[in-house]
Amino acid sequence: MDAAVVTPRVFNFAAGPAVLPLPVLEQAQRELLALPGCGASVMEISHRSKAFEAVLEDAKSRLAALLGLPANYRILFLQGGARLQFSMIPMNIVRGTGQPADYILTGSWGKNALKEAQREGTVHVAWDGKASNYDHVPTDAELQLSPHAAMVHMTSNETIEGVQFRRAPAVGTVPLVCDASSDFLSRPVDVRQYGIIYACAQKNVGPSGVTVVVIREDLLARSQESLPGYLSFAVHAENNSLWNTPPTFAIYMVGLVARWLQDEIGGLARMHELNARKAARLYDVLDASGGYYRGHARPDCRSLMNVTFRLPTPELEAEFLTAAKSRGLVELKGHRSVGGIRASIYNAMPVAGVEKLCEHMQDFAQHHPA
Ligand SMILES: *Cc1c(COP(=O)(O)O)cnc(C)c1O
Repeated sequence: MDAAVVTPRVFNFAAGPAVLPLPVLEQAQRELLALPGCGASVMEISHRSKAFEAVLEDAKSRLAALLGLPANYRILFLQGGARLQFSMIPMNIVRGTGQPADYILTGSWGKNALKEAQREGTVHVAWDGKASNYDHVPTDAELQLSPHAAMVHMTSNETIEGVQFRRAPAVGTVPLVCDASSDFLSRPVDVRQYGIIYACAQKNVGPSGVTVVVIREDLLARSQESLPGYLSFAVHAENNSLWNTPPTFAIYMVGLVARWLQDEIGGLARMHELNARKAARLYDVLDASGGYYRGHARPDCRSLMNVTFRLPTPELEAEFLTAAKSRGLVELKGHRSVGGIRASIYNAMPVAGVEKLCEHMQDFAQHHPA
């Protein structure tokens, strides 16, 4: 193929699968035909080969380093997306305990998680943001936790509504289980506050096909023998995520993203600073628009990853999207369930993309009065 006809890259604000760091894509491209020292593509080698074992260990150890992972936690690479975790977590953590599972509902994904958990056992809604259309997260005092819950489930960042916890809710000694699909590795996290942190890769960590599960070791003992092998955390942990053939290429990509975070960004604290700066640029434009752009989330709960807002009318929103596209700013349409605009500005979204979107927002408001 002629390099001159390669399609130029747009600024991609998709919610997921989403933008990946360009240096990561370039490295994958360089290594696609032959992994260094191996002579075959990572897609062509056995998951039990020395070469792949090195890929897996590299991804694991880089994630552990970024997270400051305590020794009593394990990292698993699973399939089935975050959606399978909605079922697998209650199957492993709640089944057999005779205890209910508490759910904190701050948006669409939390509700989806609850729905799956209901099939497994008794659930209890500890807080539901429905009354204000999921525009904020609860304070600790507002949580109505069960006295003897098997776990408490939360969604650290609600991808659809654009609402994010600033810190983990206080739930005492009950294992806190966090769906971090859309903000994993976006900021430092004190892993010790959680029993499980899980994230499908395709928002902030890699391509679709792999889900990262960080689990405290003692919780592995809750997986019952009667579970189907694939659905057991204990089986995956015992087999180092190699019980079945794992998504090898996706795991390789997660390793490259982790390396990018370490070597080019300088770790999660630095990543958080950059993310906060990018988000502040957009929210500042929103707040300075005199009500032209109306953000969905309450200011103290605004997501640094998914910036959701409305224009004065649906017609203006449609025009806004078309005009954005002509500037190379794509995938800005809000989720079908809430409408409006959603700019997903994950780790890999360059500052230049955010600057260009801010410029578009200002120009558009000026030329299309309400
Ligand atoms: C995207 C997303 C999911 C669903 O992930 P799948 O990999 O499609 O199952 C779940 N939770 C959150 C917070 C998400 O953003």
